[in-house]
Amino acid sequence: MASIFTKIIKGEIPSYKIAEDEKHFAFLDINPNAKGHTLVVPKKEVNKIFDLDQQDYIELMNFSYRIAKAIEKTIPCKRVGMSVVGLEVPHVHVHLVPLNSMEDIQFIKKESITKDEFVVVAEKIASNFK
Ligand code: AMP
Repeated sequence: MASIFTKIIKGEIPSYKIAEDEKHFAFLDINPNAKGHTLVVPKKEVNKIFDLDQQDYIELMNFSYRIAKAIEKTIPCKRVGMSVVGLEVPHVHVHLVPLNSMEDIQFIKKESITKDEFVVVAEKIASNFK
């Protein structure tokens, strides 16, 4: 069965999309640690990050780098943190999280964001994506 992220990539489930290319898709995490928390997903459905072949892994990191730069430009924060977990959704995804404290990368404290704020944040990050 297709993963929830494959359904998002195909447009079968809505998302706050930021950017995509031929092999990757970036969108806001729906239950974010902090405003601007973004997921970067390879379109190829692979469960664990180190099951990607090395070339696909490098390309995922390169795309994530460009998204992180756009987040940094958009969201005031000390830095953008990166984490790969995958215990909830078995489809590789890189978490990019604007950090102001250690709590922001602990996946415990969650930020409450309205639908309108999600739309605005996604549009702003997208506009800074190069
Ligand atoms: P994990 O698999 O533990 O790395 O976490 C999966 C992440 O996916 C969590 O942070 C969820 O909030 C996020 N997530 C799950 N479903 C959706 C969705 N439909 N849209 C955006 N993010 C989602």
